Amino acid sequence: MRLLLIFTCIISLTASAQRTTAIKCGQLLDVRTGILNKNVTILVKGNVIEMISQPGAMVKLKADTVIDLSEYTVMPGLIDCHTHVLLQGDITAEDYDVQVLKESVPYRTIRAVNSCNIALQNGFTTIRDLGTEGAGYADVDLKKAINRGVIPGPRMFVSTLAINTTGHYPLSESTYAWELKMPKGLAEITGADEGRRVVREQIAHGADWIKIYADRGYTRLADGSYRSIPNFTTEEIMAIGDETIRSRRKLAAHAVTRDGILAAINAGATSIEHGFGMDDECIQLMVQKNVYWCPTIYVNDYVAEGRAKAGSPINKYFSETEPALFKKATAAGIKIAYGTDIGGYDWHEPQTKDFEFMVQYGYSPLQAIQTATINASALLGQPLLGEIKIGNYADIIAIKGDPTKNIKLLGDVKWVMKDGVVYKTGK
Ligand SMILES: [Zn+2]
Repeated sequence: MRLLLIFTCIISLTASAQRTTAIKCGQLLDVRTGILNKNVTILVKGNVIEMISQPGAMVKLKADTVIDLSEYTVMPGLIDCHTHVLLQGDITAEDYDVQVLKESVPYRTIRAVNSCNIALQNGFTTIRDLGTEGAGYADVDLKKAINRGVIPGPRMFVSTLAINTTGHYPLSESTYAWELKMPKGLAEITGADEGRRVVREQIAHGADWIKIYADRGYTRLADGSYRSIPNFTTEEIMAIGDETIRSRRKLAAHAVTRDGILAAINAGATSIEHGFGMDDECIQLMVQKNVYWCPTIYVNDYVAEGRAKAGSPINKYFSETEPALFKKATAAGIKIAYGTDIGGYDWHEPQTKDFEFMVQYGYSPLQAIQTATINASALLGQPLLGEIKIGNYADIIAIKGDPTKNIKLLGDVKWVMKDGVVYKTGK
């Protein structure tokens, strides 16, 4: 009886100890409608949005802290659905190999701590990290350290090692002496059962998503269309998809042309990564099956020149055809989730260039913003993210000016709150 009483006291103490923060917003962007509501106050209790005032209403709030953002536009924290915190840019194959060969996993994880902080400072309060590129399950540790408050960083949804088939991923056997057993940038499988085993292993180690590499060897045909080599047999990819979905996880597929994209969708993929060479049939199937496209536009542009110089011009071709593809796919109603592939390019490069490309290719700034907020939260299956509304997590950013008029402003996020804690105040 007495024990129960003590327990009750502790609970009520904890409840009342939840700190409240009032945020006075010059204007609050409703990312669903594009409406900018002027003079709104948000009340955050603990890590949750407790109340949002009517625009212009006189609000008398009792809060532990009051934050004045009356000169700013306030909006939900951004979501990047394709990152690699454990990678520090790989324009050439050599850049990649050097990281895997010369940097220990602990050293790469220390660098990743920095990447996580950069993402948060950039205004990305959530990321889906799509593969550790040879750094084992270190993404699970980073996520754990962030969630426990050991290091600052965004909310992480992780996919651990990622999966390809034997012999089709760096470090390539063809580059090194055959006597050497080279480390690999992911888990390699041969056979449906191995696919199932690896999915089970990754989930057991904490994978939120399963990432596969569905194709390789991209070529442009004389008629301008693109083809590739599917990495998996039908049995392998179907087994991986089935095991993923049965385990209540989702499948993200690196897939560049119809040879990878159609196989991945048939196996149950929820998102197609890159998709630079997709054709009309891919677009139709993605629309029909509600499969998201993470177009990763800037990274392709970023690596195109360097790779062309190294003898591989395919990324240059993709850059040339991307604007027309983007227009066609979005006109057909394809859903886009924001994904940069940052880490594939240097973390000190901008994380918001994809917004600018999308607007350049025909999206309104609001549509571009939606890819990194409500679309991204829908892809992740996380309704408490991506929107400022009562009951959602307090993941909030502020910028100077109106991003629905000038998308470039997203490259200069002034203030960041994640989970009710302020991480950037450099107004
Ligand atoms: Zn990637």
